[in-house]
Amino acid sequence: MEKILIVGCKKAMDDVCIGCSRCLVGFNRREGAFERYAGEPAELMGLLNCGDCPGATVVTRLAQVKLWNAPLSELPTAVHVAPCILDHCPHSQTLLAKIKAKAGIPVVEGTHPYLPANIFA
Ligand code: SF4
Repeated sequence: MEKILIVGCKKAMDDVCIGCSRCLVGFNRREGAFERYAGEPAELMGLLNCGDCPGATVVTRLAQVKLWNAPLSELPTAVHVAPCILDHCPHSQTLLAKIKAKAGIPVVEGTHPYLPANIFA
């Protein structure tokens, strides 16, 4: 079964992006980048922040996920990088390169599809 770890922006997760609910709803509905799991028994196993600017600790934090979950025998099978990084982080390409180089599992760019096209119109 697929076990999904979402990586997002420390400055946005559960702060301006209240409750990280859009990623969770997107996963539950299998929408956006989660469409690939439609009809499949997939689980969300973690929401990990990047470790703060400029993203120097993201790889260490991935390793911490492995250590923290070792007693549970839970490991992600795929990492999804959230739009708070992809669309808004000035260090997004650095973060993506580091995660892709070190994760050792598929890294998917994207999570939910609910970013508004604009704010006031
Ligand atoms: S490095 Fe990017 S994703 Fe991480 S806190 Fe800073 S702006 Fe957000």
